[in-house]
Amino acid sequence: MAKWPGFDPARQDREATASPRRPAARAKRPREAGRLRGRMGGGNVGQQQIALVSTDFDGTIFAEFEQPPLAPELLDWVGRFQRQGGFWVINTGRDLTSLLESLARAEVNVWPDFLVLVEREIYVRKHSEYVAWEEWNRACQQAHAELFQRLRPRVPELAAWVEERFRATVYADAWSPFCVVAAHPAEADAIERRARQLCREIPDLDYVRNDVYARVCHAAFNKGTALTALARRLGFGPERVFAAGDHFNDLPMLRPEVARFLAAPANAVAEVQKAVRRAGGLVSRLDHGEGVAEALRRWEAAGWDPTLEE
Ligand SMILES: [Mg+2]
Repeated sequence: MAKWPGFDPARQDREATASPRRPAARAKRPREAGRLRGRMGGGNVGQQQIALVSTDFDGTIFAEFEQPPLAPELLDWVGRFQRQGGFWVINTGRDLTSLLESLARAEVNVWPDFLVLVEREIYVRKHSEYVAWEEWNRACQQAHAELFQRLRPRVPELAAWVEERFRATVYADAWSPFCVVAAHPAEADAIERRARQLCREIPDLDYVRNDVYARVCHAAFNKGTALTALARRLGFGPERVFAAGDHFNDLPMLRPEVARFLAAPANAVAEVQKAVRRAGGLVSRLDHGEGVAEALRRWEAAGWDPTLEE
């Protein structure tokens, strides 16, 4: 049984607090909790072979300009999965405020059990709040502080190099001393090549990119290492983890060593589609959340057979 201080994997509290419009959830609590304990504690995976679903947010399950922005079929699938004892993590480059605002605006009635934010920090849902996994986040913050101190003297030259050549916006924020928004993908490619040179010179430095947005970060902390740490903390290996993403910053989690079941929606960039296919995952013919839901349904219908072919 996965244990987390103050965290109840049966999520009765979440069911009760996050779904005030569903009073039936509270009435069912005792029987459901017992069933969940039996299923998870007894190691009886049965049809519930995966235990943790990790989805990127923007572009993978969230389509800002669609109505509704999160596909109902995906939320239905995840809600059922959670009721059966499974966990859902949104693994995103966004920060907490921005993510929660979009989820609230979308009026979702299914909430993730965990969040990986800014591609590196882990948060746990307790009652209706998300609280930091202190142990992980503190190590992450310390590693970044140490790295950024070493990097700081080199930031002005990188920023100047970009500003002299491109229309890109360069800035620092609470998460990184070098962030960039390129004017278009080709510009983002050129800036990435230059930033990667610096990564070769400075130990532990990495560059995380999502479309035209990018920032420097510590190489030990990304969507993949965070997902592995979370799964391990819950007591699961990669064989019980599913991951779906659409862009470059998802590549660290779209690897079989991190998640045995991989998927990408049809709108994923070519590099992601290639990586997912190479690792035996599914690239859906559908976009965004509909694509992720299709992949989940197909894996499930195949009894979570990892050799399922597209
Ligand atoms: Mg994305």
